[in-house]
Amino acid sequence: MTHAVLAALGLTDSESGTYLGNGEWSPTRDAGVLEPINPTTGEVLGRVYASSQGDYETIVERARAAFKVWRTTPAPKRGEAIRLCAEALRRHKDALGSLVALEMGKSKPEGDGEVQEMIDIGEFAVGLSRQLYGLTMHSERPGHRMYEQWHPLGLVGIISAFNFPVAVWSWNSFIAAVCGDISIWKPSPKTPLSAIASMKICNEALKAGGFPDIFFLFNDAGTELAQRFVDDRRIPLISFTGSTRVGRAVGERVARRMGRSLLELGGNNAIIVDATADLKLAIPAIVFGAVGTAGQRCTTTRRLFVHESIHDEVLAKLVAAYKQVEQKIGDPTDPKNLMGPLNSRDAVQAYLDAIEKAKAAGGKVETGGAALADRPGNFVLPTIVTGLSNDAEVVQTETFAPILYVMKFRELQDAIDMQNDVPQGLSSAIFTQNLKAAEAFLSAAGSDCGIANVNIGTSGAEIGGAFGGEKETGGGRESGSDAWKAYMRRQTNTINYSDALPLAQGIKFEL
Ligand code: NAD
Repeated sequence: MTHAVLAALGLTDSESGTYLGNGEWSPTRDAGVLEPINPTTGEVLGRVYASSQGDYETIVERARAAFKVWRTTPAPKRGEAIRLCAEALRRHKDALGSLVALEMGKSKPEGDGEVQEMIDIGEFAVGLSRQLYGLTMHSERPGHRMYEQWHPLGLVGIISAFNFPVAVWSWNSFIAAVCGDISIWKPSPKTPLSAIASMKICNEALKAGGFPDIFFLFNDAGTELAQRFVDDRRIPLISFTGSTRVGRAVGERVARRMGRSLLELGGNNAIIVDATADLKLAIPAIVFGAVGTAGQRCTTTRRLFVHESIHDEVLAKLVAAYKQVEQKIGDPTDPKNLMGPLNSRDAVQAYLDAIEKAKAAGGKVETGGAALADRPGNFVLPTIVTGLSNDAEVVQTETFAPILYVMKFRELQDAIDMQNDVPQGLSSAIFTQNLKAAEAFLSAAGSDCGIANVNIGTSGAEIGGAFGGEKETGGGRESGSDAWKAYMRRQTNTINYSDALPLAQGIKFEL
């Protein structure tokens, strides 16, 4: 299957990880090799040659030259370039979705869904290319006009995580492209093939449409080039998606050089289920949120607060649902499976460590709690733990695995306070049929997260809204709404069309 999927995308099992522009992939073979692993079987999927310091320099200089042309290309024309990319992705959706499933380990429908997200953001960007609006203000001076306009920023550096190996790049690069920027991508070392395939699809579409290079790619054998990237003053914006630990260091380094960073970091997302909740909606939403992508989404549901009056009923229903999921753990490319593997052996160890810590802190494993030793790959059981308080260290920590901590509450405000009482602030949800409870949850005194939902779960955001979170999630916003403003610089313009030179605030300065 691997060979068929790679071949459908024009890839072999030995690829350069560096797109230099001008249709050239780097011949570098001595800067290290990445060997992405199929987490389902443990097999090496292919060899990807990492980029050299020289490759990096070539990319940045070519990107700078490309920016000089692209920034003056009319935005709707830039939108046309992205329309071609979205169309090409539509044609390759099945194969690219399969490669994402093979390399990352998410289910085939979720892999396809990730490619659909690329298509959706592409189409959004096309419309946006005619809507990069500024404002007009009324000047206090006669015969003056004031307005603001948005100009491209320059080069946008994108560093992405393994769990959304292609969509996160498109959220950034497609919006950046219509804004007039050139982007350079450093993907996760765990998923370089998905990155190379995405670049090839889009760059071939651009070339066929007569467009210049606007996307570049490098792969790093360690973190040396990534750190150089972060420190590079020629790159005004670094958009980083990944763990809070690495993102904090990236944010600090970019700030030191007065660059901009857009940080999309870890989450510790919760669902509140009140006494009025419709459990027909709540139970599947919780299970998808906690178990989908084997708990490896930044928006995965990790904590559940259930009203004490229905706690036992909800727990019993969840345990029953988890037992059903257990029957459907396996190869993510097989459509009958609901849950694939964790991406790495390290992730399995982190899952086992978290369960030991939970037990040591007094937690009770209601279901799951073990790795699957009967097969190759990184499979674990989806797990529910009760009996811990929200302030237990393990509950406060994002373990990137399918572990759900279930807790009880009596008063809604206590549930909201507990939900907010974690370092992260990404996604949140309430299941209720009580209007007052829903509005309290969404109010200024409610959820402190970047995403707050009613009667849908924490994961599976649509591209139309701005995506991101507060506190240690980093504060960045990507994707829809006005998130495009992060990729542009604002300029305020005042034009005097009178014959006088009045000063603002009525100041007199007469020669
Ligand atoms: P990670 O932090 O280990 O790696 C992310 C990226 O940073 C990779 O490309 C990695 O190679 C790079 N990197 C590592 N060290 C670096 C350094 N010193 N300088 C620059 N770059 C460096 O994260 P991961 O394990 O790939 O992804 C999982 C994490 O990402 C989770 O915490 C998850 O919540 C988070 N995430 C957040 C969002 C969001 O939108 N908020 C989306 C997806 C994933």
